[in-house]
Amino acid sequence: MSLVDTHCHLTFPQYDQDREELINRIFSSNLAWVLNACSSLEDIAPMKDLAMRYPDKIFLSIGVHPHYVEGLSNEDYALIRDELATFDYKAIGEVGIDLFRNLSPLEAQKDTFARFIQLAKEFDRPIIVHSREADEIVVGMLREAGLEGRFVVHCFSGGVDFARQVLDMGGMISVTGNITYKKSDAIREAVKYAPLDRIMAETDSPYLAPQIIRGKRNDPSFVLEVYKAIAEIKSVDLNRLIDVLYRNASLFFGVGS
Ligand SMILES: [Zn+2]
Repeated sequence: MSLVDTHCHLTFPQYDQDREELINRIFSSNLAWVLNACSSLEDIAPMKDLAMRYPDKIFLSIGVHPHYVEGLSNEDYALIRDELATFDYKAIGEVGIDLFRNLSPLEAQKDTFARFIQLAKEFDRPIIVHSREADEIVVGMLREAGLEGRFVVHCFSGGVDFARQVLDMGGMISVTGNITYKKSDAIREAVKYAPLDRIMAETDSPYLAPQIIRGKRNDPSFVLEVYKAIAEIKSVDLNRLIDVLYRNASLFFGVGS
């Protein structure tokens, strides 16, 4: 049984007290590897430090979360380009649009998202997309970019309609612990609708703890709860589901076998 967590944030301050211990613990269980998603330029140095200390266990993406896009300069983009040229980032992200918390002006969010889509094409990387109350804009921009499937909508929290649009464009959906919440019927319906080879599992830890530890700090080992929920919805054996999703994530990010 090889679990993969396709989206976590191990550099976040929630892990400052016990990061080393936690990372050693999660990798001594069934977890094969994780994709640590970048959310701001400040993540880059600590992320790379982790990736180099845990080769083949911690893989990285590079991007700027919509909350932090305001004030990005040409020098910042030059730095990102340089990173992509010199380090083996497995994806662009997380990038996208967030109109829920709306911490950055929409124009800045769109501009940054569009620039990262271009970088993804130029450097031939898949994209980890963040979409919160912005599904229409996100779908429009992805469609315009003609990405031919090399993207995943992470922390998928939409319903069947949004899933259909994503899948029709060849994209994937990635599900977090919020699939275990009582109110998440729409997400469960979307998972039911999506073919197995278009689904991935993630924690988005330290956030989105599954129901069994809700309200507490999440970590990549709890991705098992997400796999269990998907297995139940799809009526597939848990071990088979884990194998299929391992293959999905490996193919998508170009990691392992
Ligand atoms: Zn995230």
